[in-house]
Amino acid sequence: MPRSNPNDFGDVPQGCSIPLNFARSSHERNYSIQIGRGILRTIGSEIASRGISRVVIIADEAVALSHSLTCEKSFLDAGVETSVIRVPSGEQSKSIQQAEQLWIALASLNVDRRTAIIAVGGGVVGDLAGFVAATFSRGLTVWQVPTTLVAQVDSAVGGKTGINLPCGKNLVGAFWQPSGVIVDIHALDTLPSREYGSGLAEVVKYGMILDPTFFSWLESHCNKIRLRDPDAVEHIVSTCCRLKVHVVEQDEREETGLRVILNYGHTFAHAIETASGYGVLLHGEAVSIGMVMAARLAERLGMIDADICSRQEFLLTSFDLPVTSAAFDPDILLDIMARDKKSVAGRLRFVLPECIGKVRLVDSIDHNIVKEVLTASSR
Ligand code: NAD
Repeated sequence: MPRSNPNDFGDVPQGCSIPLNFARSSHERNYSIQIGRGILRTIGSEIASRGISRVVIIADEAVALSHSLTCEKSFLDAGVETSVIRVPSGEQSKSIQQAEQLWIALASLNVDRRTAIIAVGGGVVGDLAGFVAATFSRGLTVWQVPTTLVAQVDSAVGGKTGINLPCGKNLVGAFWQPSGVIVDIHALDTLPSREYGSGLAEVVKYGMILDPTFFSWLESHCNKIRLRDPDAVEHIVSTCCRLKVHVVEQDEREETGLRVILNYGHTFAHAIETASGYGVLLHGEAVSIGMVMAARLAERLGMIDADICSRQEFLLTSFDLPVTSAAFDPDILLDIMARDKKSVAGRLRFVLPECIGKVRLVDSIDHNIVKEVLTASSR
């Protein structure tokens, strides 16, 4: 249910620390996600207090003169030896060539295991720098400093790192948990609107898969969220991080089937991204269309009422997200989906809603029904 007071942002205080505990898994490691405003200014003393005396910042060049510089100054003020490596913006940097350049740069800086990597940027730099940290010198510690909404609510949390191959996204990678995640809400101030909107698709996803109260809260706070009201943004970031932590603590390596629910809308989204050509749609925009298709498929299978599809579409549209795809040949999309990492032996599997706040993995759906949904959701 929506909270009665529209200014009530729940029990999340300004600035918070969310612990992440893998004690139940065989890899006992804990860290925390610190969320606040202006906290990049104190990142140096924070990380120095963990005994780190040398860092290499790997930064997206779009934030090199802003958020990365703030971090660099803070490290220098704290007496931490600091080097900075800039990475070109964009998905093409998640490549073996870019990873190799970083390995060589780290070698030329004589980096050893006492040096920590600080990844400053969106999901691209987080995934790339995390992967380089996982592999250089058989593993360096890494702190994630996400500067896009996608990275703050999703990619910086949970330890998935990786790069793309020409034949597929995220095909080479490692689970490599960071030593900490430092989320400065103010870093989003410089983010272009389309990128901010792309992150909101992932935010809606959390409501749909795990938290009906949060979904209702999003519905009743659309304007504040669109205007990037700092209290609203902090609430969405901290809620999404808590929800993601809840999932990844229980299924760090996608072994029990729980973590797969985070892929809601993604099977359709990856097919649409591939068919459109990378870069035409932002990932979150494709996820928005993918969630609409997943909900319509669930409706077609009798799992949910049309009303749930409408509420989700209305919320996505309120955030200026697309809800229909360009017209592609459904057979081509089906073929791409069958090759998706999440398919098993070519059998399509979809994460579908049972109600707002609950999804389940559904196997072996009739291809003709999927085709109907694809056709009905294109313009
Ligand atoms: P991104 O890293 O490419 O950032 C989007 C754009 O914003 C880029 O142009 C970047 O230069 C710019 N930018 C970053 N921070 C900025 C700021 N504060 N101000 C101005 N511009 C800024 O993309 P993204 O959406 O953050 O992440 C997408 C990537 O994340 C994909 O590669 C995806 O595969 C990956 N991902 C990984 C996980 C995971 O669990 N590891 C989860 C979701 C997505």
